[in-house]
Amino acid sequence: MIVIVFKYLTPKGFRGITIFPFIFFADKDDKVDATILNHEKIHLRQQLELLIFPFFIWYGFEYFIRLFQYRDRRKAYYNISFEREAYKNENDLNYLKKRSFWNFVKYY
Ligand SMILES: [Zn+2]
Repeated sequence: MIVIVFKYLTPKGFRGITIFPFIFFADKDDKVDATILNHEKIHLRQQLELLIFPFFIWYGFEYFIRLFQYRDRRKAYYNISFEREAYKNENDLNYLKKRSFWNFVKYY
C-alpha cells in the first residue's frame, strides 16, 4: 500500500481514490484518518480479489445500473456493492482481519 497526497489526482467531490497499490488523498489530514484509511484499504482488498482491472469494469458497470435504478449520481455511488461494504465497515478497524473472500457480493 502506497499512500499519496495529491489534490489533483482525486476526482472533484471525493476525498480519496484507490487504484492498487496506491491510495490517493486530496487532503493530507486524511492520511492519518483511520476510518477513511480503512475504507480505502477495503477497496484495495476488493481490487486484489478481482485481480485489479476487472474491479474497475465491475465498479463502472454497477454504477450505471445503480444510476438507472436511483436516477441520482450520489445515491448510485453509495449503493455500488463495493462502496456499501466499505462504508458499512470503515469504522471497524479489525474488519479486514475477519472479512471473508469476495465478501462484497453480500452487499450486492
Ligand atoms: Zn469508497
